[in-house]
Amino acid sequence: MNIILFGPPGAGKGTQAKHLVKKLNGFQISTGDILRDEIKKDTEIGKKIIDNMNEGKFVSDEIVNNLIKDIIYDPQKKNRLIFDGYPRSLTQAKNLKLLLENSNQEIGLIFFLNVNKEIIIRRIKKRKIEEERSDDDLETIIKRYDTYMKTTKPVLDFYSKNSNFHEIDGALEIDQITNKINNFINV
Ligand code: AMP
Repeated sequence: MNIILFGPPGAGKGTQAKHLVKKLNGFQISTGDILRDEIKKDTEIGKKIIDNMNEGKFVSDEIVNNLIKDIIYDPQKKNRLIFDGYPRSLTQAKNLKLLLENSNQEIGLIFFLNVNKEIIIRRIKKRKIEEERSDDDLETIIKRYDTYMKTTKPVLDFYSKNSNFHEIDGALEIDQITNKINNFINV
């Protein structure tokens, strides 16, 4: 089953994605990780996106959509995709729908981890110390949260009417969120 984890930066998408990968023998698609890898390898794409990433702005839909295409079409990963941080715009959501349709797949579950700004700021400050991410300073955090809320609202509207959409309180402890997610997965 393919699953989308949706929510602002610091909501715990990555942590829950790793749990789902283990539970479902799945593949995590973290567009943030894929983009950071492009920067690390100093590729042409990496050079193009570094400023946007460091400023907490979104990378263009075109770049992100291109980067995930082959992963979605990979037969080894079919119906085992755990999306973490994608889609983040309506264009991306529509692109994902198309790519899944073209490869005879669908979205099994969508989880929206909803967390307010104060908790996000506290968590990301902690993550900055643990992971030393260059886009994790306070000003960037606030920018990333605001960008996320503004740009992803149409995505939320796009999915929230679906019966497989579930909102989860992202302020809960990690294990409590995992338990809530597990309740929707029958394996
Ligand atoms: P994340 O690790 O998911 O918090 O993403 C870190 C940064 O990568 C974001 O602030 C954006 O600059 C960029 N990014 C990650 N995923 C996407 C996406 N789906 N669309 C556009 N930009 C993205």
